[in-house]
Amino acid sequence: MLEIKIEKTQNPKPIPGPDNPLVFGTIFTDHMFEMDYTKGKGWHDPRIVPYHEISLEPSAMVFHYGQEMFEGLKAYPTEDGRILLFRPDKNIERANNSNRRLMIPEIPADIFLEALKELVKIDQAWIPDRPGTSLYIRPFVIATDPFLGVRPSDTYKFMIILSPVGPYYEEGLDPVKIWIEDSYVRAVRGGIGEAKTGGNYVASLAAQVKAHEEGYSQVLWLDGVERKYIEEVGAMNIFFKIDGTVVTPMLNGSILPGVTRDTCIQLCKSWGLPVEERKISVQELEEAARTGKLEECWGSGTAAVISPVGHLRYEDDVFQIGDGGIGPVSQKLYDTVTGIQLGKVKDEFGWTVEVK
Ligand SMILES: *Cc1c(COP(=O)(O)O)cnc(C)c1O
Repeated sequence: MLEIKIEKTQNPKPIPGPDNPLVFGTIFTDHMFEMDYTKGKGWHDPRIVPYHEISLEPSAMVFHYGQEMFEGLKAYPTEDGRILLFRPDKNIERANNSNRRLMIPEIPADIFLEALKELVKIDQAWIPDRPGTSLYIRPFVIATDPFLGVRPSDTYKFMIILSPVGPYYEEGLDPVKIWIEDSYVRAVRGGIGEAKTGGNYVASLAAQVKAHEEGYSQVLWLDGVERKYIEEVGAMNIFFKIDGTVVTPMLNGSILPGVTRDTCIQLCKSWGLPVEERKISVQELEEAARTGKLEECWGSGTAAVISPVGHLRYEDDVFQIGDGGIGPVSQKLYDTVTGIQLGKVKDEFGWTVEVK
């Protein structure tokens, strides 16, 4: 394995105090990881250096054709002073699946994991210790060839930055309202929907703004072909509990395979709940809501872990979920996943990795 060179900052920044709300994605720590790729040479010069601005030619390919991949995970502080990562192997595997789809060279898993651990260790003083806070980790790769032709780049930069984040929920789980989008689509099978890349997000902005204007916080996407089947929420996967069964859309090529999604499926199965990964039509949801069988709905993702859904809106219909409060499965998943992440609940699946 390549050796990571370490250069510590001479000018550490002030660490945010306990009163800082730590708004998501606004504060960055003292250090970052960098590694370069050159065709013929492979990935080289892994290093942890002071957090800095980067300089690129205006012609750098990432600016023009969007060849980039990103990931998102968190480091969690435990009460006994350890720091845990949650299933980082899944993020690394998914990063390389995304890379293959986007014609970005794969990143060796061993150096990726070592970079995550070393960087978090160096900036561990930035991990907040108020309940619910954590250190968000953003690995990403950009194409850097200075060239306006369309082809995969021959050079890339891989970086990891860290950002302390406040609690997603200030006071307990809070149900959200979700807008089912019937005209814009996010992704189609065969496209890049299952890769974690900026292009999927820019495709979603217009619908997100529209939903916000209507008073909805999130967009639920339908399949791009028939616009009939449920896909996901754009930064979260979606689950329903219909008549006692947990159902989530099957991975069909246009849905992002969330680590939290997989975690929810494994936990629900371990509790003896029936779980189905299959196609779910809007019509099925409409009928389940009408007959009182739509018992629960929640989104799953690294940021919120579990985001209970209070109601769904489709065109002029509103589908009420359960009693509009937080369902028992949503609550149990939230408590179990966050408990494992914080080292409070026994990690029977071996999901956590110690940074120290
Ligand atoms: C990251 C992401 C998710 C959630 O994935 P997790 O690994 O659970 O955080 C869901 N959908 C999209 C489009 C995403 O980018």
